[in-house]
Amino acid sequence: MTRHHQPQRTCIGCRQVFGKDEVVRIVAGPAGAVIDYREKLPGRAAYVCPRLDCIQKALSRENLSRALHGRTAAPDTDTFVGQLAASITEKIRSLLTMAVKAGSLAAGASAVDDALQKGRVEMLIFAGDVSEGTRGKLCSGSPLPSRQATLFTRDEMGQMVGRELVGVVGILEKGFADAVGNEVERLKGLLNKHL
Ligand SMILES: [Zn+2]
Repeated sequence: MTRHHQPQRTCIGCRQVFGKDEVVRIVAGPAGAVIDYREKLPGRAAYVCPRLDCIQKALSRENLSRALHGRTAAPDTDTFVGQLAASITEKIRSLLTMAVKAGSLAAGASAVDDALQKGRVEMLIFAGDVSEGTRGKLCSGSPLPSRQATLFTRDEMGQMVGRELVGVVGILEKGFADAVGNEVERLKGLLNKHL
């Protein structure tokens, strides 16, 4: 992915240079290195690709401490990956909440089915505990968008849209779908699994 007019940052794992938006910022906090996913914290920073292999290299070779000028201890890989996955998940949650407010989210099987029939769905997100009936009904109807993911629970998705249990949502606006799709790709690369 090439973007212009974006500051360049070097991943301390693979040592390759990326646009600022493609890497994750890490800063030295009082209790050790912390992920600054929203890029709001002050201080000297290091950057790493949100990929398991880069994170392992960055932390195992103590590259992080060196990049932060020895001010901080490197967290262990599992802790770091867990925190980063939580940050990415939180970002997706906040994007979906914004999409609800913008009227760009269809929530629940019938609303999603309706939007699918109109060809309006840019991305589908199924809850991890969606019923087979809901999934099967949608998958046997209108053509589905190529972007799909399985994330959250019905309860969590319900909370985002202000309803009780929601098994599926459809993102209706390309900008939101691009942003959510980007975060989902990060999560896949980080956890090394299909979502
Ligand atoms: Zn890297």
